Amino acid sequence: MIALYVLALLIPVAFVSGWWTARSAGAKRSGAQVSELSSDYFRGLNYLLNEEQDKAIEVFLRLAEYNRDTVETHLALGNLFRRRGEVDRAIRLHQHLVSRPGLSDAMKTVALLELGEDYMRAGLLDRAETLFSDLVAMDAHAPSALRHLIAIYQHERDWHKAIEHARRLEAMTGEDEAGMIAQFYCELAEQARQHGAHQDAREYLRQAFACQPDSVRAFMLTGRLYAEDGEHGQAIDAYEAAVEADIAFVPEILPPLLNSYARSQQMERAERFLRDILERYHGISPVLALTRLYQQRDGERTAIDFLTSQLRQRPSVRGLMALIDATMDKVEGEARENFLILRDLTRKLLEGQAMYRCSRCGFGAKAHHWQCPSCKSWSTIRPIHGVANE
Ligand SMILES: [Zn+2]
Repeated sequence: MIALYVLALLIPVAFVSGWWTARSAGAKRSGAQVSELSSDYFRGLNYLLNEEQDKAIEVFLRLAEYNRDTVETHLALGNLFRRRGEVDRAIRLHQHLVSRPGLSDAMKTVALLELGEDYMRAGLLDRAETLFSDLVAMDAHAPSALRHLIAIYQHERDWHKAIEHARRLEAMTGEDEAGMIAQFYCELAEQARQHGAHQDAREYLRQAFACQPDSVRAFMLTGRLYAEDGEHGQAIDAYEAAVEADIAFVPEILPPLLNSYARSQQMERAERFLRDILERYHGISPVLALTRLYQQRDGERTAIDFLTSQLRQRPSVRGLMALIDATMDKVEGEARENFLILRDLTRKLLEGQAMYRCSRCGFGAKAHHWQCPSCKSWSTIRPIHGVANE
């Protein structure tokens, strides 16, 4: 696997160095040297195929030594070192490359970007930050340097700087980063909320809405602020607006929304709302919420009838578990033992299940994240719809 990857990486280098070798051979080197170089090259390739990377690197280093001017060979080698985790070697190589006199500005920028990535890989984020900031200031390859800087500020949770640089990126590329910037404002609002600064949190949310008027996260946070202030009527408005903004987030929104309905004694409104989303949303969460509502208001029989009729239309392990729980009290003896086994089995079935998945990289998660822990994209983690999930 690694050999194949490295091979793919070095094939372009093969052409470059092969071409260079041929050219320089004609111009100023003897034929003997050419054959020595190409035999070196194939020996290196052979080592790679046999996963003898150390020997391969030795050979390619020698090639790079012969062809001092082929910056591409050095860049490919540096990349190889970094991917292998030999970050120190990658850093030394790229630093050497950057300090080389006569290097064109374009190549120097490429080498600096590589060096910045080495620093990030080595965890030297402050050095990476300085380097990328210098590149942005020089206006060279700025979009790519800006993206790295934004990644660094996200990692450091420095949301103000992340916003500032995302705006610069927007201005420079003309691409729309409003969704990402709205998430950064939501992060700031969340931080303020955790410190009890609700007024600041509301101001950040206002900014988030200015970027993205239908930000589901901003609606949810608004609801949470109202609920924490005891204003459940307004919390309900915000949570219902969150569902309208993106119905996929129903499993996240329902628990706090139901709490606010209950606190403000608006269970009729709750029933109307749940009935309404039942028509438009095909997951199991609203069914389970309505079952509980009927259980409390109309008793066990109505709840079980409703749940069984729904389960015929949307088969669900979580629905089955709710049905077992609701029926448990009515059975005795051996039947009860069987029910206990069934409940245990369904619980085990749900245990290892990922409930959410990133639509971009496929990362599976048990809990919801606004930013994918794997590919770092925003708003790509969504509930999985299936018999054993939502
Ligand atoms: Zn992802």
